[in-house]
Amino acid sequence: MKFCHNCAAPIVLRIPDGDDKVRHCCEACDSIFYQNPKNVVGTVPFYEDKILLCKRAIQPRYGKWTLPAGFMENGESSLSGAIRETTEEAGATVKVDDSSLYTLFNLPTINQVYMFFRAELVNLNFAAGAESLEVALFTEAEIPWDEIAFPVVRSTLEHFFTDLKNNRFPVRMFDVHHSEDRSISTKLISHSKTHFAD
Ligand SMILES: [Zn+2]
Repeated sequence: MKFCHNCAAPIVLRIPDGDDKVRHCCEACDSIFYQNPKNVVGTVPFYEDKILLCKRAIQPRYGKWTLPAGFMENGESSLSGAIRETTEEAGATVKVDDSSLYTLFNLPTINQVYMFFRAELVNLNFAAGAESLEVALFTEAEIPWDEIAFPVVRSTLEHFFTDLKNNRFPVRMFDVHHSEDRSISTKLISHSKTHFAD
């Protein structure tokens, strides 16, 4: 940003008093414009042993397959945002139980946090929304593994099919780092304990 959103004076990059990071500051009206990570929320829409994926109709990764997800809006919860994105992008109606939170990814390199929730399709009435070319159900063997849009989606899908075999879906949190050579590493940081007796 170059000009203040409040008074349109030029923005100066400096460390405000009592802070330790460079911020976008307005010297005219003393506004400070903080930039913080964005939350991306989505679902793993499942039906029996299949998952609903969307083929992207937008950049980046046009034509690649992804889980329905998008930026959280102000005024909504992470779960309600994930369900909204599922309706918008896949035309799907889903239901969730009280263990829906599934994966969380910190992406400090690109200032994003991703959250995915497990959500069961209520019926098989789904249709591509404006941001999708097509939507379809896939078993593990049918998943287009080489055509998955984002590493966070691939990781979530891989864990889902493994967990499906065990019928246990622990909550996992990962740190994802993007290197300058464009390689991406994903590290498991936290893994909820399951307390079920067999
Ligand atoms: Zn200003």
